[in-house]
Amino acid sequence: MASAPQIVVKPGKLFIGGKWVDSASGKSFTTTNPATGETLTMLAEADERDAAAAVEAARRAYSSGPWAEMAAADRAKILWKIGDLVDKYNEELGTLETLDNGKPIFESRQVDMPMVAEVFRYYAGWATKIMGETVPVRGPFLNYTLREPLGVVAAITPWNFPLLLASWKIAPALAAGNTVILKPAQLTSLSALRLGEICQEAGLPDGVLNILTGAGSKLGRALVMNPEVDKVAFTGSTAVGQEIARGSAETLKQVTLELGGKSPNIVFADADLDAAVRGATIGIFYGKGEVCAAGSRLFVERKIKDAFMEKLIDRVKKMQPGDPMDPKTRFGSLVSEQQMQTVLGYIEKGKSDGAKLVAGGARAAVGNGKGCFVQPTVFDDVNNNMTIAREEIFGPVLATIAFDDVDDVVRQANDNQYGLAAAVWTRDIAKAHRVARRLQAGTVWVNTYNNYDPAASFGGYKKSGYGRELGAAALEHYTQLKSVWVNLS
Ligand code: NAP
Ligand code: MG
Repeated sequence: MASAPQIVVKPGKLFIGGKWVDSASGKSFTTTNPATGETLTMLAEADERDAAAAVEAARRAYSSGPWAEMAAADRAKILWKIGDLVDKYNEELGTLETLDNGKPIFESRQVDMPMVAEVFRYYAGWATKIMGETVPVRGPFLNYTLREPLGVVAAITPWNFPLLLASWKIAPALAAGNTVILKPAQLTSLSALRLGEICQEAGLPDGVLNILTGAGSKLGRALVMNPEVDKVAFTGSTAVGQEIARGSAETLKQVTLELGGKSPNIVFADADLDAAVRGATIGIFYGKGEVCAAGSRLFVERKIKDAFMEKLIDRVKKMQPGDPMDPKTRFGSLVSEQQMQTVLGYIEKGKSDGAKLVAGGARAAVGNGKGCFVQPTVFDDVNNNMTIAREEIFGPVLATIAFDDVDDVVRQANDNQYGLAAAVWTRDIAKAHRVARRLQAGTVWVNTYNNYDPAASFGGYKKSGYGRELGAAALEHYTQLKSVWVNLS
């Protein structure tokens, strides 16, 4: 394995009310590097007591003190500074992310961290542009709206884009004047803890961002059930999302859910086939396939399928998993032993259900042989009803399905419980737009895949969740409207 730059992976403490503290129970847990199996460090394990302390700190910071009194323009300055510090510490943050998650350092440093910085700067711009309206009501009255923050936000995030998905929640929440408690995934909490230090350095007042590491089933649940939490912003699995929606109903919290996907990537016969082959591989193998919007169902028009598959397989066979710390690596280690076993289990299920394995299909040995590497895997002759076409695998496994015409592919593409993203490859512009309208998905890409921008909203249809992240749309989910009536007579 390439040696890591000299960064210190410190034991993790909890960040509550601007102080770094041990957990109330004194317990801790380990986090490992999935590419080597080595323990990276110990992290404090928060429980209900720490959740209560963090909620209290966040409530205090929301209601009184510097944050509550701060002008929007000054909130903007702090957010901008956080973005700039994320850039300044790009190497360190990227290294922590790669060591913890197994994703290629190329992705952490060139894609994830730059976008984290941009997300903070994008919402810095919004802080001074969140405003109400005057409303033309009947009678001698002035009616106007105030767009106000919600209060205390709990952000619960997954392990696939640890800091990036945290930034999607923290930045709009803070721009609008809320305070936040972040609970990162246990598998990948290191970058979040470093962000806490960065926020201190940027001058974010104490208690505005609190960070708790620990188990979702205990700590996450405690945040969801706490009556002093006004909103839960969650990214993760559909099953946990459903539990959070149920738990939040108890105290009628606002909830946004970004959940799983089984996104269709549709290649018509008139597409630029080389571009579509690249799009198909990026669609499923970027981020080792541990991407909620992964193009995991590849629909190829029957009359070009053989030619297309030949090119695709050729390209996939050249993609080999490698040491995530090597800047040349484009395909890293899955996040954990358990995730690897899940993915390998789906590969077996695909084989036993009669799909044709045409590339990959096994664990790969890289470095010390203890890493969680799985070869980029492609199945052909998949039927949309097979388990590997219906369930989210969340790994580098592509299911290829043939189709005959537009109606056929739209029907098959929409025949799934999820609706996060979709893509269409064609040179026929009118067809592209017609199909984009008919697809049940929160994002549709045309002749491209996996584009994201802080300004472009992202979120799901159907069981992929509700609410939107990024863009102006996200701000609606971190604010509430007050209608003020003034008697002018
Ligand atoms: P997960 O098991 O749902 O966990 C997500 C987060 O929720 C983790 O921080 C987890 O804590 C916590 N959690 C677990 N149980 C909880 C509970 N009962 N109450 C409150 N919090 C709880 O998902 P994952 O396995 O980490 O991530 C993979 C899934 O996320 C995939 O299904 C993927 O599609 C989805 N995802 C969606 C998007 C999107 O934008 N739509 C993006 C990325 C990932 P622990 O650390 O203890 O597990
Ligand atoms: Mg880890």
